[in-house]
Amino acid sequence: MISLRQVRYRWPRAAADCLDIESLHVAAGSAVFLHGPSGCGKSTLLGLLAGVLVAGQGSVEVMGQDWAALRASRRDALRADHLGVIFQQFNLLPYLSVVDNVLLACRFSSARAARAAQNGSADDAAQALLQKVELPVACWRRPAGELSVGQQQRVAAARALIGAPELVIADEPTSALDAALRDAFMDLLLGACRASGSTLVFVSHDERLALRFDERLSLPALNRAVAA
Ligand code: ADP
Ligand code: MG
Repeated sequence: MISLRQVRYRWPRAAADCLDIESLHVAAGSAVFLHGPSGCGKSTLLGLLAGVLVAGQGSVEVMGQDWAALRASRRDALRADHLGVIFQQFNLLPYLSVVDNVLLACRFSSARAARAAQNGSADDAAQALLQKVELPVACWRRPAGELSVGQQQRVAAARALIGAPELVIADEPTSALDAALRDAFMDLLLGACRASGSTLVFVSHDERLALRFDERLSLPALNRAVAA
């Protein structure tokens, strides 16, 4: 599902590389826990995996496609067709309703819309996911920007999961949830990915969550830029 070789990434105007990873491979269908201290480059790596950032050197392949070989419009299409991303800052569109935020990938990708509508309509699928993340029905038609941070985090999860994408990427998605909601959220996310055979790459510094995953990766152990 994921294959990185000799990848280097340096932020514009930075004096040194942020990431220098010799190789990283993630098998299809596995659930991976990626951890490391704040500032070690976890979100940067997820940006590379999601094709939001493009490596200066080396190759970052997702489903056999090197992001750097694709033009921006093809990267957007690949992401909408096959990826669900929960960003650290959620990136919900605040003026759009909750349901419309969840349906966003379906608007950009007919393949995704068709998969979401397999058992009814895409709208039904959005509502079923919002129910699963336990978002009160009264919130569903409200602008996403009016919701609490914890509620927005759950909307972001529903948006990532709609249409069962092959790869789900989540950046510290439980940081604003209390313990009970966090456990329910983890059950939902892991359960949804296992049910659809989706690969999950999950970033957190909450080590208590690590045992629930098939594989644990320490970014500082992989990243030669930090070791140097
Ligand atoms: P983590 O997610 O592990 O906390 P990040 O990937 O956010 O770490 O950050 C890794 C390094 O990249 C930090 O030194 C940070 O300052 C730098 N960085 C992150 N985002 C940007 C950005 N948008 N522009 C420039 N530097 C950035
Ligand atoms: Mg981060």
